Amino acid sequence: MSYDPSNIFGKILRSEIPAHKVYEDDSALVMMDIFPQSRGHTLVVPKAPSRNLLDADPAALAAVMPLVQKVANAVKRATNADGIRLAQFNEAPAGQTVFHLHFHVIPVYEGTPLAAHAGGKADDAELASLAKAISEAL
Ligand code: 5GP
Repeated sequence: MSYDPSNIFGKILRSEIPAHKVYEDDSALVMMDIFPQSRGHTLVVPKAPSRNLLDADPAALAAVMPLVQKVANAVKRATNADGIRLAQFNEAPAGQTVFHLHFHVIPVYEGTPLAAHAGGKADDAELASLAKAISEAL
């Protein structure tokens, strides 16, 4: 299947709909997940158009991984999480719901199970304050 620019992250990248942005440069956008699996669930979205890992340009993948590492460290510092889970889903049967490549940076808190993938919507004020804290920790 080919990339369809009408997906929701495509719209966010074109500023057609809002997001709680943590960081942005020419090649990637970092934002809060609005249906977080834990407090501080953050998404790293490369700007280069691809559905997922399977059709991504290897150069774009190589360029984004240092940012994924930076964001993971910033999320851990800003949230005091005990660990970080990195997730990335490819095609619907594997759990993918938005068909523009992205990496989930999910804080894990000892003794607290993660919420369901793409479950309940978080409070906007809390997402805004987390976006600010993670951005300052970058
Ligand atoms: P996927 O299932 O494709 O790996 O992940 C898509 C993620 O995007 C899910 O975790 C879901 O909660 C999140 N999501 C869905 N719609 C929106 C949205 O409009 N804004 C943001 N920031 N995240 C979204």
